[in-house]
Order: sequence, then C-alpha cells, then structure tokens
Amino acid sequence: MVENLVIIGSGPAGYTAAIYAGRAHLQPLVFEGFQAGGVPGGQLMTTTEVENFPGFPDGVQGPELMHRTRLQAQRWGARLVGEDITSVDFSKRPFSITGDDIQVEAHAVILATGATARRLHLPGEEEFWNNGISACAICDGANPLFAGAEVAVVGGGDTACEEAQFLTKYARTVHLLVRRDQLRASKAMQERVLSHPNIRIHWQTQPIAAQGDSVLKSLQLQNTQTQEVTQLAVGGLFYAIGHQPNTGLFQGQVHLDEQGYVETWGKSTATSVEGVWAAGDVQDRRYRQAVTAAGTGCMAALEAEHWLSWNALVQPQILSTVL
Ligand SMILES: Cc1cc2nc3c(=O)[nH]c(=O)nc-3n(C[C@H](O)[C@H](O)[C@H](O)COP(=O)(O)OP(=O)(O)OC[C@H]3O[C@@H](n4cnc5c(N)ncnc54)[C@H](O)[C@@H]3O)c2cc1C
Repeated sequence: MVENLVIIGSGPAGYTAAIYAGRAHLQPLVFEGFQAGGVPGGQLMTTTEVENFPGFPDGVQGPELMHRTRLQAQRWGARLVGEDITSVDFSKRPFSITGDDIQVEAHAVILATGATARRLHLPGEEEFWNNGISACAICDGANPLFAGAEVAVVGGGDTACEEAQFLTKYARTVHLLVRRDQLRASKAMQERVLSHPNIRIHWQTQPIAAQGDSVLKSLQLQNTQTQEVTQLAVGGLFYAIGHQPNTGLFQGQVHLDEQGYVETWGKSTATSVEGVWAAGDVQDRRYRQAVTAAGTGCMAALEAEHWLSWNALVQPQILSTVL
C-alpha cells in the first residue's frame, strides 16, 4: 500500500501538519522519531514553562503542550510510529522512507525533523538546564529568574549579539563571552553591542563550568590565550552558538543551504522535490519558535493536500472539504 502522506518528525511542525492532514482525511503516517535529533514531541519536551504560545495566558509546560498537540493529531486520524527514519529515496515515485524496522512508500512527504541547539556540555550544565541555563533568550529571557540579574551569553555571531541586546530588557548586565578577540556579527550589530551601556564583552573568554545550588549562581571562565581561570557571578547563561538542523538523512535528496537547512521556495514550504515539503526549524534558521513551526506545519499540510488532490493521488471519496 502506498501512503498518501508521511510526516517525519513530531515537534510542533510535525504534529500540526498531522492535525491538518488528518482533518483532510489523508490519514497521515507520522514517524515521531526516537533518538535521532531528539525525543518524540521535539525540543519543547526539554523545557519547562512556555509563555509565548498563543492560547495559554498563564503559560503551559512544554511537555504538556506537546502531549495535547499529539492527542489532537491522533483524534483526527494520524497514525503515529515511534521510530527514527534512517534513509529516504526521493529519486523515484512513490517515495521510499526507511526506518530501522519499517519501510514504507508514500506519494507525499513532509520533513519536520527540527534542529538541535548546540550546547557546550559544561560540567554542571545538565543540573542547571532550565534553572538558569538556556539555549533560547527569546523563549526564556522574560523568566523572573533573570529580572535585574547578571546574565551571560556565549557566542560572537549575529545571534549572540541579538540575544545579548534582547536580554538587556530584563537583566541588569549582560556579559557577552567571546572566544576570539573579535565578533563575527555584522558591523551594525557589533556597533550596537559595543556601545550598549549594559553589555560587557569578555574577549577571548569561554565558560568551563557552571555552579550554583538549586539554580545557577556562577560560571568558571577561562581566558583562551592565557588559560587563566576566573569566576563570574551570574544567574543566567544563554547559549547562542548556533543550531544544527536535523537534515543528515536528506543530504543528496533535497536541496539544503550552506548551513544544512532544507531550502524552501518563496512563501511556500515546497522543497526542491515536487511532493516533498519542509516545515518548522528544519527549514527555518531565523525565527525558530514553536508557533512558527506550527504555522509552517499547517502550510505544508495544506500544500500537500492540494497537490495530492490536483494529481488525483488520493481516492476521491476520502478527499477533504473541511479545510
Ligand atoms: C530549551 C528550549 C526551550 C524553548 N522554548 C521555547 C518557547 O518557550 N517558545 C517557543 O516558541 N519556542 C521555544 N523553543 C523553540 C521550539 O522548541 C522550536 O522552535 C520548535 O520545537 C521547533 O519545532 P519543530 O517541529 O520544527 O522541531 P522539533 O521540536 O525540533 O521536533 C523535531 C522532531 O523530529 C524528530 N526527528 C528528528 N530526526 C528524526 C528522524 N530521523 N526520524 C524521525 N523523527 C525525527 C525529533 O525526534 C523531534 O521529535 C525552545 C527550544 C528549546 C531547545
């Protein structure tokens, strides 16, 4: 049997695509992923409070949000498989999608495998993850933990500078820890950061350990030239050292950009292969938010449904009129 639509990934993008495709009677088959690139439910399974997803005035726990989204996908007929996909073949039709214990064919595929925030894996990092350490200033900056506090941002590129600036809305001082003796950010961004009264740059500096009690209290810093070790009292540490899109298995199958993100065309989620769409962080190096992932998941499902209908690849009696 050839599947109408296979969705690879189970974050906000994959489950939202599954809700829309399910409501369109496509009975999508969703590979939730097991280990590669994260856990079923995606990145929000690794956080606590999500304060910026619409519809939750008091915030919602990340795992709770994903549990509810998963149930909603199942309610509309999505079939969920807890397996990692290990290879895809988009060179022939129907497409072939292979996991450790399963191989299926599909007319259409949505790639929603997300991205992984890079971490430094410092001693103490696991202990203070979500208790002072974060990989997303936009997501976590407004946490009361950081109000009026000293916080640190690691990185020297545009993202690090943007996040440092953003955090000055909440923190008293933002310490930007830069490994080299210069920033990689654009000139304009550099100027803004260098001239900001509440941002202090520590050149040639990297954190080597995180310390505290129930929450992060300080960092051990090392000078990358002299190796000298110092202590910095901070209540927050934000990683801004990039993301790795989970696209290893799509190499050579769809066009990826120079950073490995799936390329989509114009305002659509279409990839370089007709019949394959990409949604969420796997194709988004700019916003990387749950709501944008969900939004593009919706777009991908609508585009897939129209394409399948147009090409008469779905039996007419199960085509949707409800979208
Ligand atoms: C700590 C943290 C806190 C955050 N807080 C917020 C917040 O407060 N608000 C906000 O808007 N955003 C937040 N974000 C960002 C948000 O989580 C992401 O933008 C969003 O999860 C992206 O959704 P996605 O569906 O594209 O991918 P992901 O959530 O990354 O999900 C991808 C899924 O694909 C699966 N997968 C990967 N490879 C395979 C494979 N080979 N086969 C099958 N499945 C696979 C993974 O297991 C995973 O389930 C946070 C991120 C982090 C890391």
